Amino acid sequence: MLFIWGRRVVRRKFGYVADFCPICRQARIFMLRDVRVYRHVYYIPVSAFEKLGYERTCMTCKQRLSGAPAEYTAVRRMPAHAASFIQTSFPRLRDIYAERLRIEDEVRRSPLSLANEMRLRLIREPFVLQSPFVDARRRRTSLDVYCLLALIAGAGLVTLTPIVSGMLHMYEEGPVFGVMALLALALIAWVFSTEPRRFTRRKLLPRIVQALRPLKPSESELTAVVKSMISEGIHVATYLRSSLVLKALAKPSHSRAWGSADLSRGRG
Ligand SMILES: [Zn+2]
Repeated sequence: MLFIWGRRVVRRKFGYVADFCPICRQARIFMLRDVRVYRHVYYIPVSAFEKLGYERTCMTCKQRLSGAPAEYTAVRRMPAHAASFIQTSFPRLRDIYAERLRIEDEVRRSPLSLANEMRLRLIREPFVLQSPFVDARRRRTSLDVYCLLALIAGAGLVTLTPIVSGMLHMYEEGPVFGVMALLALALIAWVFSTEPRRFTRRKLLPRIVQALRPLKPSESELTAVVKSMISEGIHVATYLRSSLVLKALAKPSHSRAWGSADLSRGRG
């Protein structure tokens, strides 16, 4: 009998707030949610809800970040007029992020004139922001289409045993079955173990590229940043070689219309 128990995380929508998004590199509208966890047996809660904190999701790039509700006045509906939204939800935003907004102005005007140390810090930031998602992906088994194909291919390999035995003129199918089963297991294990790498490249690389594009990082800068993160055991860097990031940066950007999530026009 399968016994299902463990911890479940639940997120409850709180409302919308303005805040700075380090991926979009400007003030954006975020959805704010509180995050709670409870213990369950067969998905039935058996413990009190324990509050883990707050999470905010950028409505433009979908980056999830930790929130700070003491600073906010959340509104229930997505605001229609972005320009006045900072004043409504986070009036101290421009004071709290004054230094960061000044740096972002410089990134827009002349990214290569920034100090070397600052450039490396800014290049590293979007990688580090994706790190928790990679770590979470590594902790659990997730299926993508390649995993399902590997399961089908593995089953196919085993069912080929009589044909392969016939081709090899072997009367005993046992050894052939053993080899085919081992091949199938090796294939499935390899495809499942490389799922976090595919997830990182499919889902997280576009966000990293979006944040890096205005900085115009050189190959040597990217290589230095990726190398230092690998030495620190930051897994996202092991899945994204600098050459891969440079290749993605070289492709034309498909920047979307920012719409009501764009707060930059509200400055003044
Ligand atoms: Zn964003």
